[in-house]
Amino acid sequence: MSGLEGPSSDEEVPDWLAGLGLPGLVDLHTHFLPERVLRKVWDYFDLAGTHYGIEWPIRYRFDEPTRLDVLSGLGVRVFAPLVYPHKPGMAEWLNRWALEFGRTTAGAVPTATMYPEPGAAEYVAAALEGGARCFKVHVQVGGFDPRDPLLRRSWQLLAESGVPVVVHCGHGPLRGEFTGMDVFAEVLERHPGLVAVLAHAGMPEYGRALELARDHPGVYLDTTMVGVVFSERFAPLPSDWADRLVPVAERVVLGSDFPNIPYPYAEQLAAVAGWAAAEERLGIPFLRAVLHDTPARLLGCG
Ligand SMILES: [Zn+2]
Repeated sequence: MSGLEGPSSDEEVPDWLAGLGLPGLVDLHTHFLPERVLRKVWDYFDLAGTHYGIEWPIRYRFDEPTRLDVLSGLGVRVFAPLVYPHKPGMAEWLNRWALEFGRTTAGAVPTATMYPEPGAAEYVAAALEGGARCFKVHVQVGGFDPRDPLLRRSWQLLAESGVPVVVHCGHGPLRGEFTGMDVFAEVLERHPGLVAVLAHAGMPEYGRALELARDHPGVYLDTTMVGVVFSERFAPLPSDWADRLVPVAERVVLGSDFPNIPYPYAEQLAAVAGWAAAEERLGIPFLRAVLHDTPARLLGCG
């Protein structure tokens, strides 16, 4: 198994990583939540046929200790457990939970989120002070405008801190009132110092996401669900994707959406390996950067 071939099952992942000479994976986009909230999220995915028009059987539907074991068995050394609110009044307590989870769970980093509401800047500042190393903003689930004046100070605080923020602002898998790369482009113009990771590489607006990365040195793309068979059915990558990654190769980071994925984790890794193999200017150095070095640098755990 050459490094560029990619693992064909989760069991093969640790050997594959060893072959690449990597100490493990750094996954910038996973989800952990208080048990009760996670159950609700899973109930939602159970009705994916209704919500998304596509079945979405959660692959890693286990209790928390088992999910953590799965990650460490895969060789995930560090991961960002991301949380996000779908309504006001929720972000602050989610942050308390996520900061504590990140501080007390092996491999996890403390994370936080925000919502346009009075007091947002205060709890964002508190989370940064409390050691948050990654933020998540979900424009579609939150149903808010990322340009909302109530978020302005928070974006500014994030830009000043250099702490990365994973932003789900794409139209996929569901369109929201304020999704779309062009909406978020206005936030980037106002806050040029922001370190923003475009979740799902902007799915399905991959080309526009690449342009944003080209125009803003603080913009990164995460690989979450990108290029796997499941997503190719509704949001296929452009045929010259690998070629177009070359100029931003240093700004692509591993994300998986673990545990809420309807396929094995190894498939995501194989997809990334496929891009590396398809373009000789990418190759093994790209793979090593995406799977470990770049996300490790962003999370400050190099
Ligand atoms: Zn996600």
